[in-house]
Amino acid sequence: MAMITTVTEEEWGTCKDPSNKVKADNSIRTYVKRATLPKKLAQAIVYRLTPEILVKRINERKHTVRKLLAEDLQPYDATMDADNVAKNVADIIVEIIQISAGLAPKSDLEKQQQQQIEADLSRRFGEFLLQETDGYCPFPGCGRQLHIVNGNKTSPLYKVSLIDKSKTSSIDNLIALCPNCYTTYQLDDSKQVCKELKAAKRILSIHKQSVQLLDNMALEKGIIGVIGKIKDLKQKDLVGASLDPKEIKQKLDPDKDLAIYGVVNYYVNTYFLKVKEIMMSLDKRGIIDYEETQDQMKAFYRNLKKKKLTKVEIFNEIVDKIHRVSLQENIYCQIVVAYFIQSCEVFDVITK
Ligand SMILES: [Zn+2]
Repeated sequence: MAMITTVTEEEWGTCKDPSNKVKADNSIRTYVKRATLPKKLAQAIVYRLTPEILVKRINERKHTVRKLLAEDLQPYDATMDADNVAKNVADIIVEIIQISAGLAPKSDLEKQQQQQIEADLSRRFGEFLLQETDGYCPFPGCGRQLHIVNGNKTSPLYKVSLIDKSKTSSIDNLIALCPNCYTTYQLDDSKQVCKELKAAKRILSIHKQSVQLLDNMALEKGIIGVIGKIKDLKQKDLVGASLDPKEIKQKLDPDKDLAIYGVVNYYVNTYFLKVKEIMMSLDKRGIIDYEETQDQMKAFYRNLKKKKLTKVEIFNEIVDKIHRVSLQENIYCQIVVAYFIQSCEVFDVITK
């Protein structure tokens, strides 16, 4: 079981791994013959299967072992041999888990039609959708890479799926998934899963649009120097430099945005005066144009606000933009954005 899923035994809840009772080298045969799993267990693991690991593990066995396994399975499939048994066994087990989870497998004809539709969608929208994911499977709970790395070569490995299967294949109803999530989702008509996928798509497309928007807007390169200085700060440098930022409450309502309020409040409290000192000093030395940076931050905020992003989204997108420009860790970029919230470039005063 550990070879076919990333779900740990603790997570299965009351369902114990049935393969614990059989000898390890016997388990695959036992499974195929028994051909059923408790539904709850199957549902818990069906979206988190790792057939590629099972294939690898079986292929690590000696040829004679694989030959025996293949012979044992020939009554089920006459084409089984030592070379294809790993892939076949993985396919069979995936299917058993899907059926046990209550998902009806497709017929060969249906599979073929589905492949054609997918190939067509991939050709038309694949590259855009792959970009939109940032290279990771956006299926809730997955997050696997959507390409395989082989030495210094990478090749894309993804499938394009409809999100709401009752709607048309417009770009906002399509998403790139890893092959495992894709295959399982094609069998799954759960409204809940569809809803989760819609939410994932919203996050992806907002981020993609924000990146595009901010891409066309400049940011002072001197920000790298500012962050470098922030990184060097020691606790003793910050003694006596604290600020009680009452103004933050005017821009972020702790009742509505507690997490971001807390973070910004802490950063401003701890760093604001020191960051201001750093900015002024680098401005004097011509390393950063402080006024220009203020205008840029204000423009980032205004433009993202127009797109109706939430405060957390706006904060994250500006942090990400600074990260892309500076390649500095997000945590330092957050300190910079918190600074510009306090100094009034980011977020407006809440009107009650
Ligand atoms: Zn996936």
